[in-house]
Amino acid sequence: MNPSIEIETLKVNKQELKRPLFIAGPCSAETEEQTLATARALAAMGIKVFRAGIWKPRTRPGSFEGIGTKGLPWMKKVKEETGMIIGTEVATAVHVYEALKYGMDMLWIGARTTANPFAVHEIAEALRGVDIPILIKNPVNPDLDLWIGAIERINQVGVKKVAAIHRGFSSYNKAKYRNEPNWQIPIDLKRTIPEIQLIADPSHISGKRDLILEVSQQAMDLNFDGLMIETHIDPDNAWSDAGQQLTPAGLKTVFDQLVVRNTNNNPKVNYDLEDLRHEIDQLDISILDMLGKRMQVAENIGRYKRDNDVTIFQPGRYTEIMEKRARQAIINGLSREFSDQIFKSIHEESILHQKTIMNKKKI
Ligand code: PEP
Ligand code: MN
Repeated sequence: MNPSIEIETLKVNKQELKRPLFIAGPCSAETEEQTLATARALAAMGIKVFRAGIWKPRTRPGSFEGIGTKGLPWMKKVKEETGMIIGTEVATAVHVYEALKYGMDMLWIGARTTANPFAVHEIAEALRGVDIPILIKNPVNPDLDLWIGAIERINQVGVKKVAAIHRGFSSYNKAKYRNEPNWQIPIDLKRTIPEIQLIADPSHISGKRDLILEVSQQAMDLNFDGLMIETHIDPDNAWSDAGQQLTPAGLKTVFDQLVVRNTNNNPKVNYDLEDLRHEIDQLDISILDMLGKRMQVAENIGRYKRDNDVTIFQPGRYTEIMEKRARQAIINGLSREFSDQIFKSIHEESILHQKTIMNKKKI
């Protein structure tokens, strides 16, 4: 996959946003007082980018669906009074026109909208000729191509300042997280579009305020460029997403505990790690050589089974291998889960090799 994407470093009002970029503000703008009080507290903490949802695509009807256009002058006031950059979610072309009329500095596309190419196309057309950052949340379903497709559609109309927001993926069984982080997907996005900046949304991933620090730290350790964290002056009485919003003071506690390590753009880091990386490369080559040899032995077993009419899969032997390897793995400081995963894959590959041999004529 080689997407035709041209992306510039995220800049808002000519300021390059340094890592980590913090975006904070309530899930929804509810009243003028709530919006301004939250913004004032965040500005006092040094937050430069303010978010608030004006139009809220809610899963079920009957929940608060956003204050609508009425809230846009409140956002404008936030900008005038605090000097913060302001942003909101858009889901239709009309939202784009309205938001721009009130001086929105950046916009984001929500997870439910990213999942719909027609909606993204409509938003993209409304953005033609507009030079502000557009942040694209991942689709609700874990589909990297759909996420890339939305980025391409927005990029194709000439919007160059595009960033991606990772907000996790829906699942039927909600366990620890409200939305499964599935970190491999944003990592693969970055591998496909290396110049894209990644912002994590720990609020929608975790769904609970107690997990915000843990998820934010994970994002920082995975080299994310920024964090978008829902913050409300009175979270327990919020009209949407009450359980996951922090107070401004709560957000400060998260920031104070967050460890932000350097990204690897320093030549010294590469130089220092060169020997260790070489060692890893050599070990990986040996692992693959050994696996190749193991498959040759498996093929010999396949020949024997073919000639003696024995089935490929021998459950007793499989269980014995899994048990013995897990014990050996633990001796080597590896987990049982890791051993099970590896040997399940090796066994699958072995069966595939044996199947090829058994279905061939005798040689
Ligand atoms: C939001 O940011 O408030 C929001 C609705 O997010 P998502 O699209 O990730 O559900
Ligand atoms: Mn929300």
